[in-house]
Amino acid sequence: MFNKKTIRDVPLEGRRALVRVDFNVPLKDGRVTDDTRIRASLPTIRYLIEHKAALIVCSHLGRPKGKVVPEMSLKPAADRLAELLGTEVAFVPDTVGPMARAAAEALRPGGVLVLENTRFAPQETDNDPAFAAQLASLAELYVNDAFGSAHRAHASTEGVARHLPGVAGFLMESELTYLGKALQNPEHPFVAILGGAKISDKIGVVESLLRTADHLLVGGGMANTFLAARGLQMGDSLVEADSVSTAADLLNRSGTKLALPRDAVVAQTMEAGASHRNVAVEDVPQGWRILDIGPGTIKSFTESVRGAKLIVWNGPMGVFELPPFDEGTSAIARAVAASGATTIVGGGDSIAAVKQAGVIDKISHISTGGGASLEFLEGKVLPGVAALQDKPA
Ligand code: ADP
Ligand code: MG
Repeated sequence: MFNKKTIRDVPLEGRRALVRVDFNVPLKDGRVTDDTRIRASLPTIRYLIEHKAALIVCSHLGRPKGKVVPEMSLKPAADRLAELLGTEVAFVPDTVGPMARAAAEALRPGGVLVLENTRFAPQETDNDPAFAAQLASLAELYVNDAFGSAHRAHASTEGVARHLPGVAGFLMESELTYLGKALQNPEHPFVAILGGAKISDKIGVVESLLRTADHLLVGGGMANTFLAARGLQMGDSLVEADSVSTAADLLNRSGTKLALPRDAVVAQTMEAGASHRNVAVEDVPQGWRILDIGPGTIKSFTESVRGAKLIVWNGPMGVFELPPFDEGTSAIARAVAASGATTIVGGGDSIAAVKQAGVIDKISHISTGGGASLEFLEGKVLPGVAALQDKPA
């Protein structure tokens, strides 16, 4: 259950708040090309402004590896934030030095300052205590709204909370509320759908969902490794040889909960429009590869989805970037959207797929967390969450 204090639970007026957001956005020529993550932070930022806190916003962007990399500056994100808010947003090319300090001190209630990329300092990912203390000393309150970074114990996600009272922002709260439902208190039938390229990324989550879900539908590239573990020939399909024995073990333990594709769309090349056929998974020809789930699988997966009360989906059912191999993923996206269940979709490619299928507005919760969502669903403690203050019992 979500039991952390949020920005609703603490006094804000006149206080300086260090706000950790996820502004890890794509940039091109000094402009933000996709501002989804910045928009996702607006409810928290607006609330803090309205309640007259002074906001010192920080984030990482990319992997500059402890060096100043001008192409990974947060300046474009600060500019985009200013456009979205329609107010002035200050920016300093500094995180804990004298410039950052002076700018933080100059902030008035309701003012917004964005600091430079936290990962320009090597101490960020080392969770260096002195660096965390310096960062914390800019403010009187810590607000963490960067769910997507909460699985990492870095200075700006964990270390600072040792020096400041830490509370959750609204994005953090909503991620933990929805994902917490799936982990601890699912409505039944609970159907989990997993796909995507690699099984090795998602073994922990398969294990955990096998405990909590009623049905686990597996498609996409990761299904191939399970099918190979059943002794089937996969032709040129993506199979992770290192994970075949783990997959066999999971199959043995999963009973009838875990459903695999019964048929597939195969082609000889991985290209848009490649000539293709439908085959039973037992009949993948040599030299051909699985690029999507087949019509029989779509039908059976759709039926499982139809009666669900809760659906968690991570990972496309096929190579949805290359039509017509997007059909399985689109069909599942439409079925999920029409199910009437509480629906949670996570993963960068899966979010792109529901967008492409035109049903993103019909999903209850889009989880922007990626790795953090998977670790949370595995039942791991996220250090960035653990560091926040608990609500009084
Ligand atoms: P997400 O980003 O939603 O977590 P992943 O990154 O795990 O998803 O997987 C998405 C990728 O999986 C896509 O690029 C897609 O093309 C690929 N994929 C899905 N099915 C297959 C398949 N049968 N063979 C190869 N790649 C696949
Ligand atoms: Mg991906």
